[in-house]
Amino acid sequence: MNGRIWTGDELTEDTTLTCDVCVVGSGAGGSVLGLELAKRGLDVVMLEEGGYHTRRDFDLNEAKAYSTFYQEGGNRATDDLAISIFQGRTVGGGTTINWCACFRTPPEILERWRDVHGVKGLDTAALTPHWDWLEERLSIRDWPIEQANRNNRILWDGLGALGYSRGTVKRNVRACAALGACGVGCPTDAKQSMLVTLIPEAVEKGMRLYANASVRHVSTQGTRVTAVHADVLDPATSRPTGKRLTVKAKVTAVCGGAINSPGLLLRSQLTGRGNVGKRLFLHPVVISQARFRERVEAYSGAPLTVYSRQFIDRGPGKLGWLLEVPPLMPLQSAVALSGFGVEHQEHMASLPHANALISICLDGVQPGDEGGSVALRDAREYTRFKIRYPLRDFHWEGFREALKVSARIQFAAGAEQVMSPHSRPVVMRGEKDIALLDRAPYSPLECSVVSAHQMGGCAMGGSPETSVVDSTLRYWDLDNLFVVDGSVFPTALGVNPMETILGVAHWGSQHVAAAVGRSA
Ligand SMILES: Cc1cc2nc3c(=O)[nH]c(=O)nc-3n(C[C@H](O)[C@H](O)[C@H](O)COP(=O)(O)OP(=O)(O)OC[C@H]3O[C@@H](n4cnc5c(N)ncnc54)[C@H](O)[C@@H]3O)c2cc1C
Ligand code: SF4
Repeated sequence: MNGRIWTGDELTEDTTLTCDVCVVGSGAGGSVLGLELAKRGLDVVMLEEGGYHTRRDFDLNEAKAYSTFYQEGGNRATDDLAISIFQGRTVGGGTTINWCACFRTPPEILERWRDVHGVKGLDTAALTPHWDWLEERLSIRDWPIEQANRNNRILWDGLGALGYSRGTVKRNVRACAALGACGVGCPTDAKQSMLVTLIPEAVEKGMRLYANASVRHVSTQGTRVTAVHADVLDPATSRPTGKRLTVKAKVTAVCGGAINSPGLLLRSQLTGRGNVGKRLFLHPVVISQARFRERVEAYSGAPLTVYSRQFIDRGPGKLGWLLEVPPLMPLQSAVALSGFGVEHQEHMASLPHANALISICLDGVQPGDEGGSVALRDAREYTRFKIRYPLRDFHWEGFREALKVSARIQFAAGAEQVMSPHSRPVVMRGEKDIALLDRAPYSPLECSVVSAHQMGGCAMGGSPETSVVDSTLRYWDLDNLFVVDGSVFPTALGVNPMETILGVAHWGSQHVAAAVGRSA
């Protein structure tokens, strides 16, 4: 087999391919799976709806990056617009544009998946050899505090001053120049994303990758998927060219990520007995912005290198959170941070002095927290889904407390001023003002909430009545359909999800490979 990457403009006529495994999506889950199958000598075809962009395209131009490398041009959001959703759509998926933070799955989360959701065989011991391999292959190493940029150092210092637990983050980089551009694509190929690591290796081993190929549905007969149907997209506009790509594979693996994977199954009339699209988790985030007298320059330097899980477990019924910092790229800050008009102009002018803390809330582990849902819009909608995520009292309580903690940390690190993410921001000039956060409005659109970690929608579990895939990642009611990405998580994680997805995919590849044997 000769591996190669094709783009949409090369597919000038309708094409039908046959292969052992069709992998839909080239992100964290799909790439690991593609390589592991290709290594076993299997004939793999990978379809990716995003474009094939490489470091030559990663020119730090934010306007181009969000509109090109992100889902819905960077404008994905829940239906009520209360939560903005940042998600990758390019060869390499989220790994091409993410911030490089790597965490193994907290053991208590895997235990919950076993005890509450009936997942079998997926514990820390089972995943450890897979993580060991991935960490070696992707150069996942600690980023020492001495190399932290000022933005991260503020979190480190504030946590230390208040006696809170703190740690440094592992990153998947090699010879990183600390440019800070991870979120718009790494121009030096230092980031060990799937784009520069496992995808090229899989292609060398014979995998065929088609970029600009948007899978519209899979067709089934009895208990089997018989074909995968994709529209070829024009790389320049991302619109369908009218050409079709059909793949007939022994086994199909859907790896489109949370939101898109359940969306594809629903378009294919595969509802998983009503479970597809349920249990969507977003790790909802609130951002606390601070201004320091000195320059912080939060747009440069390795973006995310310090964290704290001090508040991850606040007891039953209470939302816990992970603390980190985001990079403050100018365009993204202009959209995500508070204020309008002159006030906003002033914030933007002082961007070099700004720091921000993010509280990444752990959803799906509290009693009754079923998260959100994905459903289809009308037939004319091409990439948009109906994404619902009800924010309830316990979310708002968590967000309010998280903002108070962030403000305390920022003042402890020397902030002159801290601002809340409200549409009319609470402006605090010292510790004494933190109580003002209690009087602020906590409701959709009045307090901004964002998400960069989507999980669930095709939950894994012990029963077809409550989950979409079994503990081998196989769709319960079909013999040759698997889901291998973050959409199979039955809950969120409370840490950044990439390494869990990579590990689960590496572990799960054995089940997909075995199914090819059964189909032969
Ligand atoms: C700005 C940002 C920063 C982040 N930072 C971090 C971080 O520091 N650490 C971390 O652990 N995580 C981070 N994440 C999250 C992480 O990147 C994702 O959780 C992870 O990439 C998800 O993996 P996945 O395999 O589930 O899906 P993805 O990586 O999203 O891959 C899915 C791919 O499938 C394609 N696809 C979808 N539907 C179809 C279809 N119908 N046909 C063809 N192709 C399709 C998509 O275009 C996409 O490329 C970040 C995310 C963002 C957006
Ligand atoms: S910080 Fe490192 S990995 Fe991120 S874009 Fe810059 S060089 Fe690449």
